[in-house]
Amino acid sequence: MDVAIVTGASRGIGRATAIKLAREFFVVVNYLRNREKAMQTVATIESMGGSATMVQGDVSNYEDAKKIVDKAAEYGELRILINNAGIYNVKPFIRMLPSEWEQIFQVNVFGTMNMIRAALEHMEEGVIVNIASVIGIYPIPDAAAYCASKAAVIALTKSLAQELGSKIKVVCVAPKGTNTDMLRKYHPYAIGDPPEKVAEYILRAIERGRGGECITVD
Ligand code: NAP
Repeated sequence: MDVAIVTGASRGIGRATAIKLAREFFVVVNYLRNREKAMQTVATIESMGGSATMVQGDVSNYEDAKKIVDKAAEYGELRILINNAGIYNVKPFIRMLPSEWEQIFQVNVFGTMNMIRAALEHMEEGVIVNIASVIGIYPIPDAAAYCASKAAVIALTKSLAQELGSKIKVVCVAPKGTNTDMLRKYHPYAIGDPPEKVAEYILRAIERGRGGECITVD
């Protein structure tokens, strides 16, 4: 069976995407700390007749990224990589510490790079979907680090898509506010899209996205 990796699939958009992908792929559910939640994602997939396994790992660490990908390759041909794991922070620029900038870039940008680098050791053909954000395209105040990190993810996608050509398609999906723990923590009064809607866009990006394209969620 072909294999799909979804980073940060214990919760939110990653979880919804893992569940939808399981109709067609063996899914590797990556998580950082929430083992129980990752187990729930796997259990949901299995209850629907799909197959999945979970792998703990911090995408910002290259050795962990390699561990996640190497594990995935044990189950079949790696065809899909969804770089979904991400972190957010809201603070006026002057109060955001350099260490907080670093943390956001480590996960959102270096995490994406680490996973792609490790995956390319195994992937002969397939699709890589990087999850950006509309605020990486249209930045908002008090979120400079996050907006800049997601802009970097979009640029990385566009550059790499040209480099890799047609066998491995690299696309980007840019959600707007989505009803997950992330939105609830930082924007408790915002009404977000359901994560399942974003997951549908990710599936469409896999099937019909053009290499280098950044698809915004309407
Ligand atoms: P979320 O509810 O906060 O879930 C984050 C997921 O990422 C969790 O599964 C978490 O694992 C995992 N994670 C965090 N850091 C990690 C690391 N270093 N290594 C591996 N996994 C890690 O987030 P979400 O709202 O679903 O967001 C998913 C993606 O969409 C992110 O890239 C985010 O920036 C982007 N996005 C979200 C929104 C929104 O409004 N929600 C809008 C635009 C873009 P644990 O559960 O184990 O901690």
